[in-house]
Formats: sequence, C-alpha cells, structure tokens
Amino acid sequence: MTFFSDASPLAAIAVTPQSVQTLLPLCRNLGAVLYIPDSFPASDHYRTYPGYLRDLLPQLWPEYSGFIFALATGAVVRLIAPLLSDKQTDPAIAVIDPQGKFVISLCGGHQGGADQLSRLIAQQLQAIPVLTGAAQALQLPALDTLGDPFGWRRGAGDWTAVSAAIAAQKKVQVIQDSGSRLWQDHLPTVHPFGFAEETAEDQVWISARQAPTVEISQVQWHPRVLWLGIGCVRGTPQALIQQAVQTTIDDYNLAPQAIAGVASLDLKADEEGLLAYCTEHNLPFKTYPAQVLKPVPVPNPSPVVAEEVGTPSVAEASALMAAQAHGSASLIVSKQIFKQDDYAVTLAIAEASQEYIDKVGTLWLVGTGPGELAQITPAAQTALVNADAIIGYSLYLDLIQPLQRPGQIIESFPITQERQRCQRAIALAEWGLKVAVVSSGDCGIYGMAGLVLEELEKKGWDGQSPTVEVFPGITALQAAAAKVGAPLMHDFCAISLSDLLTPQAKILQRLTAAAQADFVTALYNPKSQKRTELIATAQRIFLECRSPQTPVALVRSVYREDESIVQTTLAEMLHHPIDMLTVVLIGNTTTYQYKHWLITPRGY
Ligand code: SAH
Repeated sequence: MTFFSDASPLAAIAVTPQSVQTLLPLCRNLGAVLYIPDSFPASDHYRTYPGYLRDLLPQLWPEYSGFIFALATGAVVRLIAPLLSDKQTDPAIAVIDPQGKFVISLCGGHQGGADQLSRLIAQQLQAIPVLTGAAQALQLPALDTLGDPFGWRRGAGDWTAVSAAIAAQKKVQVIQDSGSRLWQDHLPTVHPFGFAEETAEDQVWISARQAPTVEISQVQWHPRVLWLGIGCVRGTPQALIQQAVQTTIDDYNLAPQAIAGVASLDLKADEEGLLAYCTEHNLPFKTYPAQVLKPVPVPNPSPVVAEEVGTPSVAEASALMAAQAHGSASLIVSKQIFKQDDYAVTLAIAEASQEYIDKVGTLWLVGTGPGELAQITPAAQTALVNADAIIGYSLYLDLIQPLQRPGQIIESFPITQERQRCQRAIALAEWGLKVAVVSSGDCGIYGMAGLVLEELEKKGWDGQSPTVEVFPGITALQAAAAKVGAPLMHDFCAISLSDLLTPQAKILQRLTAAAQADFVTALYNPKSQKRTELIATAQRIFLECRSPQTPVALVRSVYREDESIVQTTLAEMLHHPIDMLTVVLIGNTTTYQYKHWLITPRGY
C-alpha cells in the first residue's frame, strides 16, 4: 500500500513483543522504519538498537519527520521534551497504547502532521484517534495547515494569536485575493470566518502580496502564483539574479513565498546562474523556444533582442507563458533591467489565476462497499481519510460521512453525471491534489474506476502522473450472497440489465449464455422506472433452462438501514418488488434452500 503520510520519513519505536506485533504490519503499510531493543532477535523487518532509547532518540530526531511510539505517554513526554524546539519544525509525534485501541496525536499536531498521521494509524488499527486541537473540535480546518493541500506557503504572522481567536470562537476576517477558494466552500455551517469588507477583527491574509502592517493580529498565506520571466547575459552570476528578484519583489510589495517558478528562453536552459538560483530556492525552471515566445503580446518588445535571439521579448513573454499554463495570466511587473559590470538581468513577473502545487496528484479509485462503514476495507478507509478531495454520488457520500475530516473538499454529483464526476476528479488530481473517487460496492464493477481510466487514456495520460491506485470494495453480489448463505459457491456471473451503455441485444445474448451454461447469476440494475420489461425477459430466458422452483434472492439495500431480503423462486420472483437498489441472485440447477439459507454445493 502506498499511503504516504505527510510526515515522511517515519520512524516507529516499540519495546515489548506485543507492541512489535502491532507495529510491524503498520510500519509496512506506512513505510516506517521500526526500531526495537537489541534484546530482540535480528530481523530484516526492523532495526535493533543497543542501550537506552534516550540515547538513540537524539540521533534519530533530525533524520525523521514523524515518530510513532508504542510506549507509555509519560515516557514519551520525558524522551522528547529535551528535543522539542518549535511547532514549525518539530516532527509529528503519535503514541499508540499497548493494545492498539487508541492513537494519541501528542505533538506536532498541525504543521508536523501528527493529527493526520494519527488518523491514518487509527484507520489501519481500527483504533480511536485522540486529537486534542481546538480546530478539530470545531470541525474546522486548522489555520496553520489550511493552504497545505494547495501548496500555499506560510508567511509572517502571529499564528498562535489568530488560532486562539478561532478556538475562542471569535470572528476572524479573511482577505483573499489569490489562490483557490475551494476551502471556503467546504466549511461547516457555523464557522468563524468573515469574507465581507475589512473589520477590526483578527485577519487571515491570503495573497501573493505582503499584508499591510496593522494593529490587529494577522497571519499570512501565500499561494504560489508568481512566475518570474528572466533573461540574462551569458555567465551572469547567481548573486545578480538573486538581487534582481529580491529588489523587484520588495519594490512591488510581493511575497517571496508566492513565487511559483522561473521561466526563460530555451537558449538559457543551461545558464548556470539561473539553474543555481532555481536549485537553491527549489523552484521549477521552464524554458520556451523563441518561436513560442515571439507571438506573445508584451508591453516592452525589443528589436535588438529580436535580432539577437529571434523573439522581441524573453522576460515578459516567458513569464506570461509560464503563468498561462496555470489558468490565465496577467503581467504584474513589466520588464526591469539590472546591470552589474558586464552582466545584465531582465526580469518580469506574471501572476497566474491558479496556484502552482509542487506535488504529483493522485487519484484513488475507492470502492466503499454496499453501505455500512464496517464493510469498507481499512485500506479504502485510509484512502478516504487521507484524500484532500472526495468526489462521488451524493447517496454514497452520505454513507461515508463519518469518515470525512474537517477541511476536506467534498463534491457530490447527481448519479447521471458520471463523466463530469470523472473530469472534475482528473482536473483536481492534475493540479496536484489527492483525490478519492468513490463508487459503492467495488469501484471496478459497474463503477467509476473504468470511467476514470478511460478518460485519462483519452487525455493521453502517461500512466504515472497523476498516480492512480484502485481500492477494491465488497460488491453487491458478495454482500447479498453473504446475507442469504452461500449461493455463489460455484461458477457464477454478473449481468447488468442497464441498457444505457449496453445494447439490449448484447444483454439478451449474455442472459441466454449464462442460463444455458448454468452459472449462478447476479442481475445488477435489474429494473428502473423506465425499464420494466427486461427483468421479465430475463426470467423467461432462465425458465427455458432452469426449473420454476430455482431459488432466487431479491436483496435490496444490503447493509444499509432499509435493507430487505426476499427469498423466492424463479417462477414467483416478479410478484415481489424489484428496483434499482436491488440485486437479484438466481441459483444454478443445483442451488437449494435449507431453512432460510441458500446453498450451492461446492462440487457436483
Ligand atoms: N459498483 C457497485 C455496482 C453499481 S451498479 C457494486 O460493486 O456493487 C448499481 C447496482 O448495484 C444496483 O442497481 C443494484 O443492482 C446493485 N447494488 C449496489 N449496491 C447495492 C446494495 N447495497 N444492495 C443491493 N444492491 C446493490
């Protein structure tokens, strides 16, 4: 499994055999390294350490972003106390009790990712996450991780004061002029944020610009929307580039954290100073050929430059090109020239309408089973908890509501809009979010998995970015079978009677083949308001090959509150209600009923 916690790399520490047993599978799933005392036998599955944990921990501390302890909380507190410095850099600390019933997010809850890590562990162990932060209790996204899914960067601010105001349920005003507003759409009905005109309340400032200094408490988030277009004389040192950027950013009151990346002419792809600048600041570097830059309308074209490199603009045109790849672009700083000795830098800045997220997005195609939470695999539950966004049909989203966490983007679409659902999920994943697309049952059986992969294929997807993982679920036929006994013990098949995407002739052909081949048969989508005859046709086809007494189970809304199960026969089946929430199980020629159980013999 690939659940990368935001706190990665991860270390886990256990000192008793029982907790080693609890942590081993967990570490495998989370990709954590397990450390245990060297009194345990050596193994490839963990690392042993000599002596005391209090001597080991300071060595591990700088290497890992998160720690999972299976130790008494008191012991953990004493161990980590001398190592803690501040919440911006402290690792995530999670503590598991010996029986694996509770997971305490002890420290580094927000920025360290311990809350999220504890939720993940709790899903895996079917334990209760103990999260004591105030935002969690108010069902709000935490202020200091608000922009993380969108790749925003934290700027200056008094995070403690504004978070405290939110915890005290005071109003806080939000001033946002760039970056996604999706987070605003998914707040609980009661929340402290005000989006109207400026007031005297504490402030959350979300912008590519620096906030003006104010009397009140304030925090700043900077979405990465600024694209620097840079041209330079060959050999220009990094220091001059750095100075040009710094000066311009300051002059225009922009936030350096809002810089998304650097763009230039392809001739500059190996320009050392530019490359070094990008490496140092961890910025993507995009280059464009002259013929791509040439037609871009710019305020300051230069005939001299055109003569030299084939495009009248490098800085302005490349900034605009790079920003345009992220929505629409506007040039907010036109060409500036900086000279020193024989060197020169030109710099322009364009602002994109959509922020750049420095992550490869993921699509998790998740089967949520027939309805009840307990029937969702722990892997699928973990994917749902971990996702930035969950997309699905409203009925299924309601069923998994208890798994949703504050701040998640939840988008529901009517059942008919399956293509739109796929396209939206793909767009969010291409942007860089972790997106879960949910189907009931198994997502690869008359579900969303195929649709999503087909859409990706149409878009020329490279198979890797966004990454895709499919999480199986218990499909309706399995759930229904389990409720009535063991009707699927021998060869069986599923046939959907929906003729929306399949021609009727094909459905009839398959019904005939299944009846003749003596498959136990599950009919999905058996009867809709408009399509009422096909189920009767199916019955006639099966009656040609099977006895009228053949057991049939009509299982409706299995594992949901309104579950109903009718056991009948092939001859009688149409005398009972059948609808789109029903799956019809038709026995083979050997299936029989004993008491209220259906049995298909394992052998003949
Ligand atoms: N992906 C789903 C199937 C979707 S097709 C799965 O694997 O189960 C929709 C059809 O599935 C419904 O018309 C019904 O026939 C069946 N179905 C889905 N959930 C069901 C449930 N809880 N109880 C009974 N039938 C169900």
